[in-house]
Amino acid sequence: MTLVPALKTFETDLLSKFGHVSTWVFDLDNTLYPSDSGLWPQINQRVTLYLAALTGLDGLSARALQRYYYHRHGTTLRGLVEESAIDPTPFLEFVHDVDRSGLSRDAPLAREIERLPGRRLIFTNGSRDHALRTVAELGLDGLFEDAFDIVASGLVPKPAAPAYDAFFDRYGVDPASAAMFEDLAKNLQTPKARGMTTTLVAPRADQRDDRDAADGEGSGAGYVDFVTDDLAGFLRRVNDRLVAPAHKPSRPNRPAPPSPGDRRRRSRPLRGARGLRA
Ligand SMILES: [Mg+2]
Repeated sequence: MTLVPALKTFETDLLSKFGHVSTWVFDLDNTLYPSDSGLWPQINQRVTLYLAALTGLDGLSARALQRYYYHRHGTTLRGLVEESAIDPTPFLEFVHDVDRSGLSRDAPLAREIERLPGRRLIFTNGSRDHALRTVAELGLDGLFEDAFDIVASGLVPKPAAPAYDAFFDRYGVDPASAAMFEDLAKNLQTPKARGMTTTLVAPRADQRDDRDAADGEGSGAGYVDFVTDDLAGFLRRVNDRLVAPAHKPSRPNRPAPPSPGDRRRRSRPLRGARGLRA
């Protein structure tokens, strides 16, 4: 897949779109790992299993219910909470109890995320524990300040606008100086409207896409600034345009200590995530 801007303007666009960015926000699933890694189908299947056990439906009917919830409420969990008032904790634990051994450590991506000038955060519709375990498997642990999850957003998922506002408020992020990386175009609409620079992370043309068929749509939307099928390569070009050359080892950016009355709620960086594993 080619990048949306013509190549002759690409380097200029990188500076104008990312030169002011001080907070880098990443979706987790199918963004920080490839869509054909086999992880997402496991989560999807476990959502179906949970629904089947909860409702007594057969597999096909449970999958149909899952799709209904997804399209009506944004996530199955939101649908279950809205329509059946379930406890979200067992659901989140069950659906994220997956085998992550198919994921590979992504050294190029780790290197480029570490080079980014500013704060780095994960914003996921999944659980924080899932984010911790997944970034550890990818070799990305220790690179993010925190992971904002579906519980932190009050169970309101992206792309609902209140989820983004809760995220901005929690970390004191000014969206006008932030960038968002996502595999779902629809999740970039509100970030763009709030002033963020938006990048859609799409599968390669030859890559299996295990997501919902509609999830591959929207790459040409006006609220998508860039499209890439190689996140590490894209970030390398951004970093090369913005910061020191790659051969110079860079230090992790450390957030400034909060001032009195600062509304930012800083959590421990996502270090030592492996310690959470059984
Ligand atoms: Mg995703």
